[in-house]
Parts: sequence; structure tokens; C-alpha cells
Amino acid sequence: MKVLITGGAGFIGSHLAELLLSKGHQVTVLDNLSTGRLENIAHLETEPNFQLVVGDILNETLVDKLVERADWVFHLAAAVGVDLIVKDPLRSLMTNIKGSEIVLEMVYRYHRKVLITSTSEIYGKNASGPLKENDDRILGSPLKSRWSYSTSKAVDEILAYVYWKQKSVPTIIVRLFNTVGPRQTGHYGMVIPRLVDQALKGFDLTVYGTGLQSRCFLYVKDAVEGMVRLMEHPNAVGQVFNLGNQGEISIKALAEKIIALTGSPSKVVYIPYDEAYEEGFEDMQRRVPDISKAAALVGFTPTLDLDGVLQLVIAHLRDQMASVLRPAVVL
Ligand code: UDP
Repeated sequence: MKVLITGGAGFIGSHLAELLLSKGHQVTVLDNLSTGRLENIAHLETEPNFQLVVGDILNETLVDKLVERADWVFHLAAAVGVDLIVKDPLRSLMTNIKGSEIVLEMVYRYHRKVLITSTSEIYGKNASGPLKENDDRILGSPLKSRWSYSTSKAVDEILAYVYWKQKSVPTIIVRLFNTVGPRQTGHYGMVIPRLVDQALKGFDLTVYGTGLQSRCFLYVKDAVEGMVRLMEHPNAVGQVFNLGNQGEISIKALAEKIIALTGSPSKVVYIPYDEAYEEGFEDMQRRVPDISKAAALVGFTPTLDLDGVLQLVIAHLRDQMASVLRPAVVL
């Protein structure tokens, strides 16, 4: 297949590109390199089936051309990370809503199949047991950036669903729950690369709030495997799927685990949300996915648990640090 990945130089997109290439597909990545990075895909440069187009998802003419040439489109280009969304809400909303609108319109124009990546942020403050795809969304004020982000992704989902219902465009929606692994950066707030980086440098690990809030972390290679299986399955069309891992951990316990695994002398410090993000910031206390739908349709099962993922992230960041550190010259 000829595959277009929007946002393919990002953390998840680059792993997806790798998987698709290994399956013999032709991959074109469209990325404006705002949060995507060349080093994520540098190792793919010599692959004959790989092409990078540096450009913006809001450039309709460009997206038109690229979608026309593709069979499948994985739409990942979006503003990522709570930190970025809080700092630049306008750009985040534009990229998410307008970008998806453009992609869906082009996919409709050329009768292509598209997978739209959504997020567990959709469920908002719903902290009940494992969240099923049709569970309620519980949100705060739309004037708070976190909830407006959640709403922007919900608009993407609605658009994708309506294009399917009304125009028979084959769309699939995937909600990713805290995807982690090598190449993820802590620059946009993501907790695991941030805390591992702090531990390796001997800095205090910054836990926000009480640290009793919990998350479930999905290994990125499991996430992209699930996405490709859903794209390949004819019955996934017109539906939404959670992709996540069900192993739950509090952020406090996560920080302690990272200290133990790295053998770091660092300590944990607690930072109020108002200081970490913005005044009135609200967090989710708990977010556990129900993954039975994707498991039943395509046999989705995470292969790596949190300890396994942390080992990989620690090794990756250690390598990265070693490659930039130069020995001091002693005279
Ligand atoms: N978090 C933290 N310290 C950090 C970054 C994040 O304690 O340096 C917390 C954050 O407040 C949240 C959890 O870790 O409760 C997961 O944050 P992340 O941004 O990775 O994902 P999300 O909030 O989208 O689940």
C-alpha cells in the first residue's frame, strides 16, 4: 500500500513508519517539524520506500496532492502534550480541528481510507473503572485549555464519524491512552521522559499534585501494531477503539520506580498544579482503558509492561546523553 502518515516525524508517527516499512508498504511522511524531529526518522532516510515531505497539515494544496497519491492515510498531525496545549491553545485548536477537516475532506475527495488518532483525553474527568468506548465524557469549562483540547479532539471524532455515516468515507478512530517509549520527549510535559531525564541527571523528580493520580502506560510499538491491524481490518471502519495498557500506577509510585530502576540519588518533590501548568488546572485522577473491543476484533494485546518500557526509555536516554556528553579537557 501507499501510506501517508501526517505527523510521521513525531514520536508515535516514526514508530508507525518503521512498522509499515517493515511490512513492505511505501511510506510518505508529512510533518512540519514543529514537534516532530528529523532525528526520529533519520534512520529511515536510506529506505527506498520512504519519503519525507516537510510541510503543514493546514496547507490544503499539499494535503490534496499527498492524499491523492495514497491508499491509506494515518492522521497523527496534532498538537501534543498537555504542556503545549496550555501554552499555545489557539495553535493547538487550529491544528487539531482545521487539520482534521482538511484531511477528511481530501480523503472524501479521493475515496481513501483514513485512521484518525484521538486520545483518552476525550473521557475528561470520568475516573470510573475501565473506560469503554461509549462511556460518558465528563468535562470542565470549555474556557480551560485542557477541556477545549478534549473538545477539539471530540470534534475530530465527530467529523470522522459523520463522514462515514453520511458520505461512506471509510474512517476509523483510535483513542490512545498514555503512549510511551524511546524517542518521546519530555518537552511537552509527558511524565515518563521527564522523570527519567531528571533521575539520570540527578535532579529532583517533579511530581505534580499529590502524585496519587494514576495512569496506564502503553508501549508505543504495541500502539502502532494495534493501529495497523485496525487499518487492515475491513470491519473496523466506522468505529472507535481504545488502545491502551491496563496496568495502572500512581505517579508517585512511578517516580519511585524510576529512581529505583536508574539507581539515581534523586528525590521526589511535589509541585502544585497551579505552579506546574496554570491557575485552576484540573487533572484526571484516574484513566484506565477497557481494551476488549480492539482485542476482540484484531487480537490487540499489549506485549510489554511498564517495567519493560521503562528499561527501554532509560537505555535510550542514557545513550542520548552519552552521545552529547564530551569528556572535559583536563589541563
Ligand atoms: N506529571 C508529573 N510530573 C511531570 C509531568 C507530568 O507529575 O513532570 C503528571 C501529570 O500531572 C499527570 C501525569 O503525570 O497527572 C501524566 O501526565 P502526562 O502529561 O504524561 O499525560 P496526561 O496528563 O495526558 O495523562
